[in-house]
Amino acid sequence: MAASHDSYLINLATPDRLLRDKSVRAFRAELERCELLGLEFLVTHPGNATAGSRDSALRQNAELIGQVVWDVPGRTRVLLETTAGTGSSLGCRFEEIAALIDGQPAEVRARLGVCFDTAHVFAAGYDLRGDYDAVVERFDEVIGLGRLELIHCNDSLGALGSRRDRHADIGAGELGEGAFRHLMQDPRLRSVPRVLETPKGEDPVAADRRNLATLRRLAGP
Ligand SMILES: [Zn+2]
Repeated sequence: MAASHDSYLINLATPDRLLRDKSVRAFRAELERCELLGLEFLVTHPGNATAGSRDSALRQNAELIGQVVWDVPGRTRVLLETTAGTGSSLGCRFEEIAALIDGQPAEVRARLGVCFDTAHVFAAGYDLRGDYDAVVERFDEVIGLGRLELIHCNDSLGALGSRRDRHADIGAGELGEGAFRHLMQDPRLRSVPRVLETPKGEDPVAADRRNLATLRRLAGP
């Protein structure tokens, strides 16, 4: 599995025309580059509704994602990442992610999927610590587990519903080891690849090894 993450500066939901056009160009270039490199997935965050209604921002966001995916034929699939909902960011409710996918023409829909970020989902108010199964079931109802292609495994410094996007080492944040034990042992997610976005500290390789070892231990019996 090979995935890229697009630039955080891209905002396909902005009401600012200049910024919107720049964002469309940048997003298109990201997708073209992924096609050239033969990558399976391009992960992108839904945009920010910096002014106007959230609904119209969401509609514009959906329209522009659809347009770029349509304009850049190929095999790379665009994964919409669940967000923490900081400020005006879209995609912190499963319904918003679904809205970005469901209204697309079938050809576009087939090239869209979802990246589930554990820290974001928790900070957005879904209680992965207290009721893991209810969150996964809700995701399945609203978006569909069939659309889940990638998981970002991160603990959260921000509390449940805090909308703070701050990652922590696995087990060292508000989520704790229990949530990751459920996730690592969930048969519904067995085939879904996962990526660490935990803090790197002074020795990134050592930090990643430590977090990976924690996840492996939690995946065990
Ligand atoms: Zn993430």
